[in-house]
Amino acid sequence: MEITVNSLKDTEQLGKIIGRCLDEGDVLCLDGDLGVGKTALTQFIAKEFGVKEYITSPTFTIIKEYEGKLPFYHMDVYRLDSTDDMYDLGYEEYIYSEGVTVIEWSKKIEEILPEERINIYIKRIDDVRRVLYVDGSGKAYDKLVGELNSYENTCN
Ligand code: ADP
Ligand code: MG
Repeated sequence: MEITVNSLKDTEQLGKIIGRCLDEGDVLCLDGDLGVGKTALTQFIAKEFGVKEYITSPTFTIIKEYEGKLPFYHMDVYRLDSTDDMYDLGYEEYIYSEGVTVIEWSKKIEEILPEERINIYIKRIDDVRRVLYVDGSGKAYDKLVGELNSYENTCN
């Protein structure tokens, strides 16, 4: 499905909805150009998920761990050369854990991603407007689609 946000405030609202849908073992993949708002969205999601610490971009560390309702892992795989690097990082310990994992630039490591996940591709329209394309499968995805449908109904 497709969601248009007209401001950072809208993105915050969406982040809250997503944060409420995530639970044990869920994986959320974020893609879209540099500066489109992947980290910004993650900050709102994490806050709703109970992460008190301020989230910063993990571009140079690849992965950062936070504590929320459950462990919250934030990855940015932009700088990885190949999926082999993911094995070196021991990625399975994060993705297949009881925590929640958010992955920026997930398309780079698509072949090792679990089948059940939420994919969000963000496209920039102008300085503040974005379109989010949401697809995926699994429990969290089904829940999110339900929540997004009722959110859209209250907007229109
Ligand atoms: P990315 O992680 O995709 O490279 P960032 O989240 O670091 O991008 O940067 C996105 C920038 O765009 C932030 O400075 C943010 O404040 C700004 N921005 C403006 N409008 C929006 C919006 N509607 N959604 C997300 N970010 C927005
Ligand atoms: Mg980022």
